[in-house]
Amino acid sequence: MSGSPIWHPFTQHGLGEPIPLVTHAEGAALYTADGRRIIDAISSWWVTTHGHRNPRIMAAIAEQAHKLDQIIFAGWTHEPAEELARGLLAILPPALTRVFFSDSGSTSVEVALKMALGYWLNIGQPRHRLLVIEHSYHGDTIGAMSVGARGAFNRAYEPLLFDVGTIPFPASGAEQATLDALERECRDRPAALIVEPLILGAGGMLFYPAWVLTEMRRICAAHDVLFIADEVMTGWGRTGTLTACEQAGVVPDVMCLSKGLTGGAVPLAVTLASEAIFEAHRSTDRAKLFFHSSSYTANPMACAAAAANLAIWREEPVLERVASLAARQATRLKALAGLAGVTNSRALGTITAIDLETRDKGYLSALAPRLLAHFRDRDLLLRPLGNTIYVMPPYCIDDADLDAIYVAIAEAAGLFA
Ligand SMILES: *Cc1c(COP(=O)(O)O)cnc(C)c1O
Repeated sequence: MSGSPIWHPFTQHGLGEPIPLVTHAEGAALYTADGRRIIDAISSWWVTTHGHRNPRIMAAIAEQAHKLDQIIFAGWTHEPAEELARGLLAILPPALTRVFFSDSGSTSVEVALKMALGYWLNIGQPRHRLLVIEHSYHGDTIGAMSVGARGAFNRAYEPLLFDVGTIPFPASGAEQATLDALERECRDRPAALIVEPLILGAGGMLFYPAWVLTEMRRICAAHDVLFIADEVMTGWGRTGTLTACEQAGVVPDVMCLSKGLTGGAVPLAVTLASEAIFEAHRSTDRAKLFFHSSSYTANPMACAAAAANLAIWREEPVLERVASLAARQATRLKALAGLAGVTNSRALGTITAIDLETRDKGYLSALAPRLLAHFRDRDLLLRPLGNTIYVMPPYCIDDADLDAIYVAIAEAAGLFA
């Protein structure tokens, strides 16, 4: 063995692609050991909202490190978790009354699915079937993969994934077919529908309108099917509002939040649930308790970081920054959209995406590594999904950095489309 012993995620080590060593970061920039300044155009995989090393979040972690590092959370509690839970309820819809902690988006989804099945069992009407939207992504653990799209990502594990009911993606002009399919599937008394609200992220930055989300929620409620909103990517201002559900006037029964929960500084996730779901588990019968935990559930330093993120949301004009970023990206996207080889340009909140017109699509296409290299050579962190190039920067990014990103995408259209 030569070089590093590290096995990286979503990395084909056999291709020998360079793996930059990052030494520090600030705002929208990453700095490497070989002296480069890299623009973080995808918020370090969709997590960094306010920018790297936000001073308030860093200070909160440092301060908490002087008091309490870690404590079992089964039957114990601590102030950062209590403060965070109260703060979350204060800014989210009142129908979400309970906060369950975990440590990643995938686990927050596992928790949501277990809550839904536990609810139906505990009220004496067991249900097991879950409904999903075509092309969805909800994480990489077995349960999260089961409710996500099948493909190259999970071929080896497919025999282990459980069956779900899949409704078609509500593509433009075909929304009614999605709603009709949901209506049909709901008659089989499924436990829940899980959705990525407004944007399917890893599935290719696929957008659908708010009224479809509203309608899906209405149909689920009418058929007594639980509605789970996976806001792991869309939460914390990404789509222009605190949550994407807000734009559709939708209040889910269960909501998953992670990625931007700590401003993107440290891992933490929450699954919020309605009182009815909590009540179904609350009993003097110990067999009905919610059987889920991980060692680091509600780690105090992570909770302190998230509480600082909430304070930033309360006290600083975060949504104005989001709106400004949206406007600044809109003009640049418009210029891109006019170029030959660029199609399907779209934007919502801080996220923009285009597709390159090419025969060579798909995640495993030969185009992907060439695009990656193109952006790497220009000191940009961009990670296209097949022929889809998207931008999702930290909210503090300046105009010069945005220009560099959009110039490089325009060049890519010229070279590869
Ligand atoms: C990233 C993501 C997840 C998984 O989160 P991890 O923290 O990577 O486990 C789940 N759902 C959605 C919508 C995501 O974008």
